Amino acid sequence: MKTQILSQNDTLAAAKILNAGGVVAIPTETVYGLAANAFNNAAVRKIFGAKGRPSDNPLIVHISQVDEIYALVQDFTEDAQKLAEAFWPGPLTIILKKSDAISKIVSGGLDSVALRLPEHPVARKIINETGLPLVAPSANTSGRPSPTSAAHVIADLGGKIDAVVDAGRCKFGVESTVISLCEAVPKILRPGAVTLEHIRCVLGNAEIDNAVLNPIEDGVRPISPGTKYKHYAPKADVTILKGTRGAYIDYINNNCSGKNIVALCYDEDIPYLKVSAISYGKEADSTLQAEKLFDSLRAIDKIEGVDAVYARCPSKCGIGLAVYNRLLRAAGFHIIEI
Ligand code: AMP
Ligand code: MG
Repeated sequence: MKTQILSQNDTLAAAKILNAGGVVAIPTETVYGLAANAFNNAAVRKIFGAKGRPSDNPLIVHISQVDEIYALVQDFTEDAQKLAEAFWPGPLTIILKKSDAISKIVSGGLDSVALRLPEHPVARKIINETGLPLVAPSANTSGRPSPTSAAHVIADLGGKIDAVVDAGRCKFGVESTVISLCEAVPKILRPGAVTLEHIRCVLGNAEIDNAVLNPIEDGVRPISPGTKYKHYAPKADVTILKGTRGAYIDYINNNCSGKNIVALCYDEDIPYLKVSAISYGKEADSTLQAEKLFDSLRAIDKIEGVDAVYARCPSKCGIGLAVYNRLLRAAGFHIIEI
């Protein structure tokens, strides 16, 4: 299959492909999403096939107007309305009990559905022009870092999808915050640009799911099926080094002889390192780190014969928790205190 590259002005062409049951990667303010008609099971199956996504990992359904939610859920609860009012359009995904309109293929067999109303004007235009809710998981091969540019999408899915709409780089660079309102206390299953503090300001009560910062224990079924799968990892093993800049630089410079080490570090570390270094932003700027992390993880794979990657440990404040969570997963939760 030839993958068409569409411009951000080609929203009608993208909508036409989607209405005909095709799959199109679309820009959003978080990462690029691989979209298909949420009501067309054959189209939804194409997404699982192109990504190599396990069938029990549910998809987020994207809408362009709040009213569209009523047909998709059993109850647009008071908490959900408050969150939608505060954060939509934007990078927040809300999980509610699903209506019969959502197939078990979309929900990965669960009785809930994840919903988002994105802010990106091109995404909203495309959804609006199809007149349909669109499922849109991140437009990467399962397990790879999420795509923050059309080039990332093409690198993973070129030849496997109908089209990609290129609108440049994504604003946030990490996927949406996912919150479940199907638990006793609202639970953040994936941190993102909308933080726990933001949500507590609106709901009063919310907590971070254990799986955000800890590996899933054997025999435990996670609330979010996605958390049990390997994610974001480059080919070489990643280790997070937790400590000061001085300790990080010493650790790497003293352990690098005879090995092809890559430092995944901050701009400020580079002048002191004796190994190949790829920066994922500035130490005090979590927003920039979020924007750059996936691109930096992809850049590591372009270096030949890497033995190991040592990453600086990001701050957990604000969107920093999302950066930390993605890096933890890329590192398979492997951290050394230095
Ligand atoms: P992605 O589609 O790549 O943005 O990832 C979406 C994430 O949301 C995955 O980790 C899914 O497991 C999770 N998710 C989607 N729908 C649900 C749901 N109904 N219940 C729990 N987690 C969900
Ligand atoms: Mg994903």
